[in-house]
Amino acid sequence: MSQRTQTSPSARSNATFDDPRWAAVVTRDPRADGQFFYAVKTTGIFCRPTCGARTPKPQNVAFYATQDAAEQAGFRPCKRCRPGQPTLDEQRAVLVTSLCRYIEQSEVMPSLDDLAQRAQMSPHHLHRIFKAITGVTPRAYATATRSRRVRNALSHNDTITEAIYAAGYNANGRFYEESDRLLGMTPKHYRNGGAHTSIRFAVGECALGAVLVAASTRGICAITLGDDPDALVRDLQDRFPRAELVGGDTKFEQWIAQVIGFIETPEQGLNLPLDVQGTAFQQRVWYALQEIPVGTTASYTEIAERIGAPRSVRAVAGACAANTLAVAIPCHRVVRNDGGLSGYRWGVERKRALIEREAAATAAS
Ligand SMILES: [Zn+2]
Repeated sequence: MSQRTQTSPSARSNATFDDPRWAAVVTRDPRADGQFFYAVKTTGIFCRPTCGARTPKPQNVAFYATQDAAEQAGFRPCKRCRPGQPTLDEQRAVLVTSLCRYIEQSEVMPSLDDLAQRAQMSPHHLHRIFKAITGVTPRAYATATRSRRVRNALSHNDTITEAIYAAGYNANGRFYEESDRLLGMTPKHYRNGGAHTSIRFAVGECALGAVLVAASTRGICAITLGDDPDALVRDLQDRFPRAELVGGDTKFEQWIAQVIGFIETPEQGLNLPLDVQGTAFQQRVWYALQEIPVGTTASYTEIAERIGAPRSVRAVAGACAANTLAVAIPCHRVVRNDGGLSGYRWGVERKRALIEREAAATAAS
């Protein structure tokens, strides 16, 4: 149904009414901004869907996917909505990116007022926009940045005191106050790759192959799946290079039995303490994954919406990929928007098997 064919005005307006883009023009839907442009044949001008100009007659409207296409068809950009300029969303993304760089380069954590002043908007407004784009508050972002800096400094400086100053802390006490939360262990232990930390582990067999369960003193810190039990143990040692890996005792054998039981029949739930280590954002995503009911799936977009960060779909996918607690944090229940399986750290076939098993179990109960 080409726009160039000679058709009657009513046929042309019907074609416009049938086009889902027309509803976005009539409602000036901000979500449509940047998705397409509409041109008005009687004025020779093309606009963004959000343009404040009077809504044109449908029989005079043509839609174009890009600005170039509209210009090639002989239309000029509207002076009011300026289709050539970056959209508001794009301008905000540029702004927030520059604030992130500023936070990363600051010696001390910048205040919200400081950031707002740089952005030339109110602290409240800035806080909202920052969170919408990054998924976390400026404070959480700054904390994550410092955490990364501490990790780096600990691996590049000779003494912990040097590392503390290199990471931008000017008082030892405050560093030690925060380090346990930032690192999940004392700085000395982290620096030593978890030396003197003992991690209990055991490998068992389940319907999905080999399963390794490991626990720190805080709770289960890894559940991994694979074909080769030795490879699973090597991976664990790589993650905690200097921790002392100890075989599980009887109590631990019960834990692994519980995890295997949970993998076989997920609807029974897993009631064991988890030692969840991740950034503030990852933890929010993982919490949302645990809220997905057994036997159902959610898309990355839905999870991003549920944690109040609808634009952080890619970051959500990243957090799913970073999960090291297979099944307990059910990243296997997250699928593409079209229902496709996408990737799984422990193999897409295991993901498929888990989803099918859970769906069958809930259908039967
Ligand atoms: Zn316009």
